[in-house]
Amino acid sequence: MDLGIRGKRALVTAASKGLGRGCAEALADAGVDLVINARGAEALEATAEALRAKGVQVTTVAGDITEAGTRAKVLEAAGAVDILVTNAGGPPPGTWTDWSRDDFIRALDANMLTPIALMQALVPAMTDRGWGRVVNITSQSVKAPIPVLGLSNAARTGLTGFVAGTSRQVAKHGVTINNMLPGIHDTDRAIALDTGVSKAEGIDMARARAQREATIPAQRYGTPAEFGAMCAFLCSVHAGFVVGQNILLDGGATVATI
Ligand code: NAP
Repeated sequence: MDLGIRGKRALVTAASKGLGRGCAEALADAGVDLVINARGAEALEATAEALRAKGVQVTTVAGDITEAGTRAKVLEAAGAVDILVTNAGGPPPGTWTDWSRDDFIRALDANMLTPIALMQALVPAMTDRGWGRVVNITSQSVKAPIPVLGLSNAARTGLTGFVAGTSRQVAKHGVTINNMLPGIHDTDRAIALDTGVSKAEGIDMARARAQREATIPAQRYGTPAEFGAMCAFLCSVHAGFVVGQNILLDGGATVATI
């Protein structure tokens, strides 16, 4: 399917690895020029090279997207992008009694206030031009809380509420804002989560993974490529009537009728 976005420009944050990279790859396959960001410059440059090999222009800005200074540099490089994909690392697992105010502030900064700041900076120009696409990478934990990821549950639900209202305000200008909710996907984040289970339960990594896979109706982890394909579709000309939705990609793990 021709996604109809060849020649458009996108900003994808936290995009050197994992799901952010999956989105950048799928957008590059659709002919979208990219500005990508991550903290580690080496992996970011390697990803940029791989994306350029697909025939698109790629600009890199290394730095922590949750910091205002990095965001300013990223936004300067982005200019008037047509597409924004927001992403950042997820908060660490833990116990609800242990989280301090600072822990919550860090989680809110990364997974709520940073995507909101990026939307506030970039969506007005999209509405002026009459076309734009925003996809926020959130989590399955928005729909069904994961108790050890309470910081994520809290921060991402706040973002979801913001998007629910704002997406309805900008839709008349041809701008859509939607969220993608990953269940477990085969990335470094999954390795980190499995390492936590492996240590806590005294089992090896293969067992930790097999245990988790057994809880998923699809009986496997998702892939960044599958995730990216959905992201590119939501950014395509065909998805203009998809507004304020929360698209769950979890292999059926969240048991709900709708
Ligand atoms: P990942 O494989 O660990 O990749 C994270 C990417 O984001 C890397 O490129 C990393 O590069 C970059 N990054 C992290 N923090 C950043 C920051 N503050 N500023 C700029 N770049 C940053 O993670 P993932 O699995 O793709 O997960 C992406 C998001 O989806 C996370 O928020 C995660 O919690 C959420 N999620 C993932 C899963 C899953 O199963 N994978 C499930 C539910 C939710 P640097 O480290 O070099 O910055």
